[in-house]
Amino acid sequence: MMKKDEITCSAAGKCGGCDWLERPYEKQLRDKKRLVEELLKPYCGLEGILPMEQPYFYRNKVHAAFGRDRRGNVIAGTYEKNSHRVVPVEHCMIEDENAQAIIRTIRDLCVSFRMKIYDEDTGYGLLRHVLIRVGRQTGQYLVVLVLSSPILPDKNNFIKALRKAHPEITSVVLNVNDRRTSMILGDKEQVLFGKGYIEDTLCGKTFRISPKSFYQVNPVQTQKLYLKALAYADFKGNERIVDAYCGIGTIGIVASDYVQEVIGVELNKDAVRDARVNARLNRVRNVSFYENDAGQFLTQMAGQKARVDAVILDPPRAGSDEAFLSSVVSISPAKVIYISCNPQTLARDLKFLTGRGYRAQKACAVDMFPQTAEHVETCVLLTKAAGTH
Ligand code: SAH
Repeated sequence: MMKKDEITCSAAGKCGGCDWLERPYEKQLRDKKRLVEELLKPYCGLEGILPMEQPYFYRNKVHAAFGRDRRGNVIAGTYEKNSHRVVPVEHCMIEDENAQAIIRTIRDLCVSFRMKIYDEDTGYGLLRHVLIRVGRQTGQYLVVLVLSSPILPDKNNFIKALRKAHPEITSVVLNVNDRRTSMILGDKEQVLFGKGYIEDTLCGKTFRISPKSFYQVNPVQTQKLYLKALAYADFKGNERIVDAYCGIGTIGIVASDYVQEVIGVELNKDAVRDARVNARLNRVRNVSFYENDAGQFLTQMAGQKARVDAVILDPPRAGSDEAFLSSVVSISPAKVIYISCNPQTLARDLKFLTGRGYRAQKACAVDMFPQTAEHVETCVLLTKAAGTH
C-alpha cells in the first residue's frame, strides 16, 4: 500500500472526485461499513466490507475536460465542483496511470498541432474532452477524442504521434459533440484507428465495451462483487434467471455456466448490442438480451405468468422502481439478488420487498470506489419468506 506522504493531488479539494483521500483507508472502510449497516439494520445484518488491496489508480474510465488557463496555456483536468471551470489535474490518485499519461500527451500535442481548444462560453474551438477506457486484463486502451466538429485537421499525423508515444493505444474514436451541453459524448462516432471498442476479461469471460456502454470502473472489485453474488445465489443448474439492468451482460454471462437460462434486460441500445456480441464471443448459448425498461419488461413477464427462479438486479444509483419490484413480487422467484451502488435506494427497495413476502438473508458490502466519499456497493440475498405463494 502507498505511504501517506506519497498521496498528493494538485486538484485536491477542488475536484470532488476523491473527498476521502486524506482519510486512512482502514477508517474509510469502517465508515462505509457503518453507513451500510445503519441503512440495512431494519432488514438485514452486514457480513462485512471487501476492501481493495491496492486502493489507488483503479479507475478504468478516465475523463479529461480541456480548457485554457489565464495565461492561455492548454490545460487538461476536471471541472471544479459545482462549476464549469476546468481545474488542471496532473496526477490523479484513483485513475489508471497510463490513461493519465495519454491525456498529458494529448495536451502537449494540442500545442504542437495548434489544435483549438473548445470554449464553452463562445462555442468556438475544436477539442472538448478526452475519454479513455482501459481493459485492465487485456492491456487495451481506447481513446475517444470528443470534438465540436467531425473534422480533425492533420488527423493521420496526430494519431501517428499519439501512438508513437503510447503504443498501448489499441483504438482511437472521434466523437462529435456539437451541442451546448454538459454531456460528454455526442451521438456521432467515427473510428479513426483500431476496432472502436476495448475488450476486458472478468471472472474468466471476455467482454467488449463500446465508448458509451456502462462498465464497472473498478474491475478488481467488480470481480469480487460478482463472485459474492454468485455465492449468494448458490445456483443448482436448472434455474431460469433474469439479469436486470444488465449493461453489457457481464453478470448474466458469468452466471450462465451455473444455470439453465439467463434473460437479460437493459435500456441502453449500445450496451444491449455489446451484450449480444459478448454472449457470442464467449460461446454462451443460454442467454438472451432484450432492449427495454426493466420495469416494463418484468411487468410483461409477470403478465405472461413466466417462470423465473431468481432475479439478479443491478440498477443505477436511483435504484429500482415500483413497476419492477411489484412484478418481482408477482413472478415470485425463490431468490432475489440485489446488487446496489447506492445504499439509500437499496434500503428503500428492501423495505418494499421485505414488506411483500421476501426476507433479506445476508448482505455484503464491496468497496468499489476507494478514496471517494460514501460510494459503496452492496450485495443482498433475499429469499421468499416461508408461507408466501
Ligand atoms: N449489471 C451491469 C450494469 C449495471 S449499471 C454491470 O454490472 O456492469 C446499471 C445499468 O442499468 C446501466 O447499464 C444502465 O444503462 C441501465 N439502466 C438504467 N435505467 C434502466 C432501466 N429503466 N431499465 C433497464 N436498464 C436501465
